[in-house]
Amino acid sequence: MTDALRILLIEDEARIADLLVRGLEEEGHAVRVAGTLAQARQALAEAVPFHVMVVDRMLPDGDGLQLVRQLRAGGDATPILVLTARDAVKDRVDGLHGGADDYLAKPFDFSELLARVGAICRRSRPAEVMQCGDLTVDTKSLRVHRDGSEIRLTAQEYRFLAYLMENRGRVVSRAQILEAVWETTNDPGTNVVDVYMSYLRTKIDRGHENKLLHTVRGLGYLLEDGH
Ligand code: CA
Repeated sequence: MTDALRILLIEDEARIADLLVRGLEEEGHAVRVAGTLAQARQALAEAVPFHVMVVDRMLPDGDGLQLVRQLRAGGDATPILVLTARDAVKDRVDGLHGGADDYLAKPFDFSELLARVGAICRRSRPAEVMQCGDLTVDTKSLRVHRDGSEIRLTAQEYRFLAYLMENRGRVVSRAQILEAVWETTNDPGTNVVDVYMSYLRTKIDRGHENKLLHTVRGLGYLLEDGH
């Protein structure tokens, strides 16, 4: 038995999605379903980070692999199982080159999907706890603590913080953050980095005398203890 997982299922066929949700929930997992790439991006921005993703390729607004490629390009290491109706060797190779951890051709048995999901989670990189002062980010459980108290972040906030944590002690520019965390090179004009920085400040630094998140005027942002 694997531990309870938070799973993002990106699948537009209701019959398959329902079947998988029922089966996975019976195993004790929590499943969020997205029927399009747009819904998946929304879930990644809003929800608590996912332990594993199951991604269909043929979606109404594009190929699920597009999202997988973008996530990998941004340094996201979430284990991903790709589903497809196409069982050609080329599709399998594309899937694995695109950054998927494994591939399952439709139709499949639920037991096989469950086994594959368990396998890619076990294979994923070992627990690593990154630390800055009294702030810790556990990259396996996706939990964040400050001074021993758990801080609840959305998936997008988590990705932003994990990126700052990987670069702790170094100034990162808005452009670098946009590229790594939002997988885009131009700000959609919403100051999204600054908006999310204010969310992180509220959750991480508010109420603490020792601030860890710093603005370096004209350069970008910095996560550092004892600044
Ligand atoms: Ca589909």
